[in-house]
Amino acid sequence: MLGEFFDNLWVSMAGAVEYNRKNAAPINVDGFPNLILDPRTGSQSERQYFAWDVLRYQIRHSLTEDGKLGPSTRGHMEKSPEGTGRGFWHNGVLIDAPIVVETDHWTSKTSSRGNYGIQWVVVHWNGKNVEHCIRTLESANASTHFIVGKHEGAGGLPAIVHQLADTFDKAWHAGEYNARSIGVDIAQRIQADSLHEYLEAGYDVQVIDNFERRPDGSKWGQDQVLSLDPKIARQTNELLHALCDAYGIPKKIPRDHSLMSDDFWRANKGVVFHSHLVATKWDVAPWFDQLVDGFELVEIS
Ligand SMILES: [Zn+2]
Repeated sequence: MLGEFFDNLWVSMAGAVEYNRKNAAPINVDGFPNLILDPRTGSQSERQYFAWDVLRYQIRHSLTEDGKLGPSTRGHMEKSPEGTGRGFWHNGVLIDAPIVVETDHWTSKTSSRGNYGIQWVVVHWNGKNVEHCIRTLESANASTHFIVGKHEGAGGLPAIVHQLADTFDKAWHAGEYNARSIGVDIAQRIQADSLHEYLEAGYDVQVIDNFERRPDGSKWGQDQVLSLDPKIARQTNELLHALCDAYGIPKKIPRDHSLMSDDFWRANKGVVFHSHLVATKWDVAPWFDQLVDGFELVEIS
């Protein structure tokens, strides 16, 4: 259904693509990476993404919604660079943070945190790109607060951050651990058999040895896995820093892959991987080195 929606959107955006091809010089707007591409010289898919990003900007700012970067939309962008959704939605209020967040895939799959507050950020992998991650969550009747990744067909472009749920509410990403946590899903697969698909799509990934093990040395996932695209890794790391700053969470990540005890979970705060919570999960342990820059590495057992 989502695919159908996008197909219809492309058809109705054809006029905007043509307009921008003739008239629109690129513009640099935070959170809209496609707008720094030149629609006059870019590929057809780049032009479509450009028009789509113009449309999303127009929707967000209640401008005329035609996908064309004409004088009035351009003027609005030049005058209000701060108005592009910088920060995190919490209890209906936008908390200022140095991350631009897209909110066009808001989910209704949330519930109350009850008596619990935010103590942790839990990091997952989920899906092969942003669209696939959203479909996967939908079909699993699950949700998360944030997705970091790239749109389908935008493999060479910068990674973007989506917020899907208000952080005041509980998202459904880690079972019994949801009430005290914010969920972050990285929309890239780990499986090495996706190498060629990602390379063709413009991702910067390679096959690496998976040397991460549980403390008892037991095998964990495949021996060879895909590295995380560095643009996604950097954006995720920046998101984790910004979430810690915004919600008063200490910048600490467990250094090894022990399972966290319930007592430790209840009594502490920090950033944790799904693999630290659930014995059968290994997300996102093989990407440990790519994600922990600037965090203090701590013992949990
Ligand atoms: Zn997970």
